[in-house]
Amino acid sequence: MSSKKRIAILGSTGSIGTQALDVIRNHSEKFEVSVLTTNTNADLLMEQVREFEPNTVVIVSEEGHAKINDECWNLGTKCYTGEEALVDVCSMDEIDIVLTALVGFSGLKPTLKAIEYGKNIALANKETLVVAGEIITQRAKEKGVNIYPVDSEHSAIFQCIVGEFHNPLEKVYLTASGGPFRGKNRNELKSVTVKESLNHPNWSMGAKITIDSATMMNKGLEIIEAKWLFGLKEDQIDVIVHPQSIIHSIAQFRDGSMKAQMGLPNMKLPIQFALSYPNRIESNFERFNFLDYPSLTFEAPDQETFINLRLAYEALKKGGNMPCALNAANEVTNQAFIDGKIGFLDIGDINEKVVQNISFQNKPELEQLFETDNESRRIAVELIK
Ligand code: MG
Repeated sequence: MSSKKRIAILGSTGSIGTQALDVIRNHSEKFEVSVLTTNTNADLLMEQVREFEPNTVVIVSEEGHAKINDECWNLGTKCYTGEEALVDVCSMDEIDIVLTALVGFSGLKPTLKAIEYGKNIALANKETLVVAGEIITQRAKEKGVNIYPVDSEHSAIFQCIVGEFHNPLEKVYLTASGGPFRGKNRNELKSVTVKESLNHPNWSMGAKITIDSATMMNKGLEIIEAKWLFGLKEDQIDVIVHPQSIIHSIAQFRDGSMKAQMGLPNMKLPIQFALSYPNRIESNFERFNFLDYPSLTFEAPDQETFINLRLAYEALKKGGNMPCALNAANEVTNQAFIDGKIGFLDIGDINEKVVQNISFQNKPELEQLFETDNESRRIAVELIK
């Protein structure tokens, strides 16, 4: 058996997936790639197969599969297609850790499968915990599976509590850059374009999460993610806007002491830490220079303008299937905005109407969460017409 950590990357052609492969490339003595998956990007997946020689790949699109199937098998890489293959591949023996970098609700089933088969999870797919945090954390506990956060804020909290696991958190502060529209009011946001919304000041990320950052839904999803990762109540999770994105989040303990994790914004660091934990390994990432940032500033988030953050706090407080409903609505409205079907402010306004129209379930089973997801999407699509 290989002594290298064998990694499956779900979503290897996206922003997190490609950065994870950069990390692996720089530490090929420690890591090897066993599985790669993509939805449609056949050309990039093929390039990755040639370089990393994984055991197995999955490409969800049949068209993409037809394009690369022969070459993959000729190189000794098994190649499958379809949604089911994406789930099944997570049970393979040749995997030590699954990096879930899928976007949205689609990450849920593969993550559950990986947990069922005892694979540790490096979680970059926050929607999975938002939708089904209770079920996921419960099953992970039963299987002795660790969930390592890749989201920079949650990685920051995780880094702050290493060595403190016996000390309960009093509170966490998740930092938010505020996105490209920080300081603007609703009137000024009425007519902002997709292009302006995709222009994030500090982080380079995929389209869905970049729009979520502009609407602050990203921070909303993150407070719910924090609840499940760290076992917190809503009054223990605060958001503070920190436009420079140098402090990635803060843990506060019961003696009042606060620990912050900081550095230049670079997703490769939390990816690498999730893969190398409990060790820290070398990196060539650019180092922070205090003199480049003589002032780090903080302000309160504006929940009247960015109503998604308020909606997320309400969903967090109410619990049950409400976070699932909010997430589903937002996946639809986020995409509708990108497609030019609705305006920027409609995202939050429609999200709010959807959650008001979903019947509340206190302790939903998985099946009911799938129903909530479907029903919320249906209502959102209706409202967009
Ligand atoms: Mg984040």
